[in-house]
Amino acid sequence: MKVLEAQFVTSAVDARGIPADGIPHIALVGRSNVGKSTVINALVRSPLARTSAAAGKTRLANLYRVSVDGGAGGAGRWSVYLADLPGYGYARGGSDSVIELARIAAAYFEDADATRRERSSTARYRVAGVLHLVDSRHPGLAPDIEAANWLDATGLTRVLVATKIDKLSRAERAKNLGELERKLGMAALPISARGGEGLDDLWRLIANLSRQP
Ligand code: GDP
Repeated sequence: MKVLEAQFVTSAVDARGIPADGIPHIALVGRSNVGKSTVINALVRSPLARTSAAAGKTRLANLYRVSVDGGAGGAGRWSVYLADLPGYGYARGGSDSVIELARIAAAYFEDADATRRERSSTARYRVAGVLHLVDSRHPGLAPDIEAANWLDATGLTRVLVATKIDKLSRAERAKNLGELERKLGMAALPISARGGEGLDDLWRLIANLSRQP
């Protein structure tokens, strides 16, 4: 698998600003500072997404279009939008955070094709999956649990990704991944945008989700 081209397309302020050209979307969601921008940069292998400095500035979604050759699903060129949604978790307390996520992300998810089973005739674009990023150092935070529940209610496919795994010792890693699975209802894919661990697996996941009709 090879990234052929990656570009920043737009910073949408409302759902109408989101491109609907048949290319599937993969949405990235997580608490602010979870490492979302760093993961995007690591996936596309160029510093397209600003890190830290831009925290909290995203209005609805920053869209990156990536063209890839090969990978899971066989040979050939394919494209995907990585949709970087604003980080939640500024507000204190779990329930505030999920209201915040609903507020910022609902407009994006509203126009999305929620499930493969029930194609909505009004959907403008297909969200092939949601990457829910959580910090591997803090498993099971209330805002993350509430966000997971909220995302599940949208009917979209959610994948759990544990970031900054390089920061943990071997023992902490096993403990935290276990706790994450218990509290968030599924095993997390551990990744390190810094060291590179798990990024090939993450691309495989993205390909599997995006390359299905
Ligand atoms: P965002 O707000 O979710 O976009 O988070 P950023 O991508 O800006 O990252 C927040 C901070 O975490 C920055 O200081 C990054 O350098 C750091 N960071 C992100 N990913 C990793 C990682 O995989 N390993 C380590 N050690 N630090 C990371």
